[in-house]
Formats: sequence, structure tokens, C-alpha cells
Amino acid sequence: MSDWLTKGLPHIWLPYTQMATAAAPLAVMATHGARIRLADGRELIDGISSWWTACHGYNHPHIRAAVEQQLATLPHVMFAGLVHEPALRLAHRLAALLPGDLERVFFTESGSVAVEVALKMAIQYWRNKGQVEKQRIVYFRHAYHGDTFATMALCDPEEGMHTLFAGTMPDQLMAELPTDERLRCAFDLLLETHGKRLAAVIIEPLVQGAGGMKMHDAQTLAFVAEACARHRVLLIADEIMTGFGRSGRMFACEEANVVPDVICLSKALTGGTLPLAATVARRHVFEAFLSDDPSAALMHGPTYMANPLACAAANASLDLFDPGHNSPRLEQVAAIEAQLREQLAPCRELAGVAEVRVKGAIGAVELAGAIDLKRLRQRFAELGVWVRPFGSVVYLMPPFIISAGELATLTAAVSQVLTERAEALKGMPTWTQY
Ligand SMILES: *Cc1c(COP(=O)(O)O)cnc(C)c1O
Repeated sequence: MSDWLTKGLPHIWLPYTQMATAAAPLAVMATHGARIRLADGRELIDGISSWWTACHGYNHPHIRAAVEQQLATLPHVMFAGLVHEPALRLAHRLAALLPGDLERVFFTESGSVAVEVALKMAIQYWRNKGQVEKQRIVYFRHAYHGDTFATMALCDPEEGMHTLFAGTMPDQLMAELPTDERLRCAFDLLLETHGKRLAAVIIEPLVQGAGGMKMHDAQTLAFVAEACARHRVLLIADEIMTGFGRSGRMFACEEANVVPDVICLSKALTGGTLPLAATVARRHVFEAFLSDDPSAALMHGPTYMANPLACAAANASLDLFDPGHNSPRLEQVAAIEAQLREQLAPCRELAGVAEVRVKGAIGAVELAGAIDLKRLRQRFAELGVWVRPFGSVVYLMPPFIISAGELATLTAAVSQVLTERAEALKGMPTWTQY
């Protein structure tokens, strides 16, 4: 084992990991395209794009060149009282890309903080309009909006960390996604009953990610938006996962013709190279902060906000979505969707599989019965793929540039591992012990 590994491992605290029993993490030496090269010489095909960020694959030369060039002139400068070209170019481009008059961009460095900023915007929006009692937020079952205190309070209480930190988090309102007529009435009633105290509804449009890769249709999203407008509650779209092509459109909201009041972007914003997030507000939201009263200003400002390297990476990433750049990303997503549909469908027949769901470049297999995550993860690595199931889902969210052959290797690995599990569920005890 390398020196840095043996010396460093005892000092690392890994995320969401029981350090007493976790398998040793794999040491990575390099990445390229859709592949992760390990210190032991093996190469894994990446099925999850490094937490859904690396949409163009790793080490894209266009992004690298942009970051290198930026590094030589302006790696960082504070963003209060000062501005710079990469951030302003990016803000202008995001405003042009986003639907409607989503046009004011507030930069931060992580998705959770982008959501926190959206919450502050929503609560202060009503305060600035003299409606101080409109402070609470509605979120949906299976939602995930981040790991900070305010965002934890908006995650599904059963899958999130509600019980662990109960009492330290704001008390928000959970709703069911209004996917049918009965639930639409219930949602409407909820907004009607609590409307006077509600600042915003927050939703992950079309696909709920870390809460279990649950999918809903465009009509459901359109209904949520329409109900929010009717009851004078702001709509926050958390497109941190779905943004930048993942759901099939550039932004999932487009599919329902919805223009949320605030949208949160992060993960694929820099193509998976540098941390950056953006909270983008509609004009009327921004205008509610314009006043002679200094306390009406938005009170937030991360030290590294609008980091020029990250903004340069994001601009380069957006170039790669531009058809003029010969990178037809949305066509690649459509091809991935078709292949995922075809090749994951047979998993439906396996014992211990509840459902197969596909949307854009997202394929999820929902498991039933005992789930040995450690064993599943280990088997995937043994088969040469980087697939990391969580909760009760095995999912694929590959880089958009993945080849059909590489994607076939990923779907074959999912089939093989779930077939092994199905056989074990029927007989051998090893897979069901955990
Ligand atoms: C990942 C994610 C977040 C949190 O982003 P971080 O950068 O991890 O803080 C919030 N919302 C959604 C939908 C996400 O997928």
C-alpha cells in the first residue's frame, strides 16, 4: 500500500459511513472519460458520475483548458464590491438558459447552501412585503434537499436524519406528492389551511434523487406550481440533481412548462470539476429586496462565492451543451434513456426487485426484501463498475459521454448482481443475513 494511504487513512472520516465496519475505501489514481483508475491498477466504469456531477465524463480537455487559463490570471477574489468576467458571463448565460424571468443569480459553493439561500430568499421575500408570518416551508415525502440543518428539515423524515437531530431543526410541513386526484385535493387543502404561514413549497422536479430515485410526471409538477400560485406561496425548484440535462431536458421544469420562483443548481454545473452552486430568482422575487431599508437586503455571503476557477469551469461546461460545440448532450441523454429502458427491463422479473424506473439518464431498480448494501457494492467493484446503491435502490446515472458498450457493461453488472441476489434470496442465507 502506498505511503500516503497507510498514513492518511487513520485520519479520514468518510461521509455516511459507519467507520467501525465499513469496507476499506478504494484509492483512486486518475480519472478519464467514464473511467476511474485505481491505485491497484484496476479500472472501473463509472455508473454514477461522482455523485451525479461528471456529466461530460472526467478530465474533459475543454474544461481543463478553461480552468488552467483562469488559474493563470485570477484564481480567486472576494465577491463583495468586486465582480469578474467568469461569474458575470456565467450569470448571463444561466439567465438566458433558464425558463421565464429566472434572471438573478446568487452563487454559493454547495447544493445544501444553495437551498439555504433559496429558503432565506423565500422567507425574506414575504417579510419585505410585510407578511412576517409567512415563514414555513412545505416539502414532499422522499425529498432530499441537503445535509445542513435547515435542509435536513426538508428531507423525508423516514430516510433523513430527522429523529437524530429532532429538536434542533425547524419544524416544516411534509406533503405527499399530488400524483392523483385525491392527493391533489389534499395538497390544495394543505396550502389553503396553512397558506397564511407558508413562505414556499420546495420540490425536486420530476425525479427525487437521494430520497430514493422516485419519479413523478409533468402534470404533477404543473399542478404543484399552479396550486402555489393560487395560494400565494413561492415555489422553489431544487434542480441540483436534475439540472443540466439529466432528466432529458436542460432543466426538468421545462417539461411541465413551469417557471419556479427560485431554482437551485449545483452538481453538474461545473461538469464535476469544482464546487459551485447557484440560486436563481425570478425578477419579482429580486425586486422585493429593493428598498431604502438596509435590513431588506439578502443577508448571505459565502467566503468563496463565485470562485473564478469554478465559474470558468461552469462556462466551459455550458459550452459543451452548446450544439455549436458539436456536443449534442441531450441527444446522448435520449440514447442513454433508451438503452437503460431496454437493458434494465429484464430486472423486473427477478426475485427481490419491486420496480424499474427510468427517466433521462437515470435508471433505478427498486429492491424489495433484505438488502445487503455492503455485499452489493463489493460485487459491483469486483465486476469492474462503480455503482453504489443506497437505501433500497440500485441506480445508474452515467456520464452523458459514456459509450453504448460501457453502458452495456454497467447494465449487465446490475443484472448479474441482482440475479445472484435473487438466487440467494430463494436459497442460500448469505445475502439475507444483514
Ligand atoms: C446533492 C443534492 C443536494 C445537496 O447538495 P450538496 O452539494 O451535497 O450540499 C440538494 N438537493 C438535491 C436535489 C441534491 O441532489
